[in-house]
Amino acid sequence: MSIAQNLLKIKSSLPDNVTLVAVSKTKPISDLMQAYDASQRIFGENKIQEMAEKWEAMPKDIQWHMIGHVQTNKVKFMAPFVSLIHGVDSLKLLEEINKQAQKNNRIINCLLQIHIAEEETKFGLDEEELNEILVSEAFKEMKNIQIVGLMGMATFTDNKEQIKKEFKYLKSIFDYLITKPKTQNLEPKTLSIGMSGDYQLAIECGSTMVRIGSSIFGGR
Ligand SMILES: *Cc1c(COP(=O)(O)O)cnc(C)c1O
Repeated sequence: MSIAQNLLKIKSSLPDNVTLVAVSKTKPISDLMQAYDASQRIFGENKIQEMAEKWEAMPKDIQWHMIGHVQTNKVKFMAPFVSLIHGVDSLKLLEEINKQAQKNNRIINCLLQIHIAEEETKFGLDEEELNEILVSEAFKEMKNIQIVGLMGMATFTDNKEQIKKEFKYLKSIFDYLITKPKTQNLEPKTLSIGMSGDYQLAIECGSTMVRIGSSIFGGR
């Protein structure tokens, strides 16, 4: 099947409240343009340099999502255009995003990444670190970022029960977060979980944003 066919098939299977991020990392612009021509406007990349090159070359109505781990010293390269940063996992990174957003006269939307997998190697905050950020004075003073939800990556395994347990754990943190009073920089509504192999399960567990790469563009 073509990229357009893959995309339309996945899109038609998603509930209305679930947003599709087409994960296009490592893929050439010609592949992204096939998805664009099939009306996809949200693309996810995991390297800032690659995302910036694609942003420069492609139509300007695309929303670019940074889904990879972000190094503080590279935030400035995406601050002028990035539409959502999924993997924010420290106050220090949030401060840098706020600073660069201010320089560009923008408010940058962010998701806080929560560590839900068994693997130590995966990034993300635990519940305590999440709370520490939210109650900190530094966070309260940030005017150029907005936390619009949470993101997580399950353990790399075929064990569906394990994945489900991790997604449900993240959903419980999300449910707790949305009971907090909304402020100008905290307005959680997005739960970014689910990739090619587990997005149906993620949707059952409350996902509102799925990040799908290989099922659209083929293997990497
Ligand atoms: C690569 C990647 C995806 C997409 O993975 P597929 O299995 O190709 O759908 C989703 N999320 C993150 C954070 C990724 O790095």
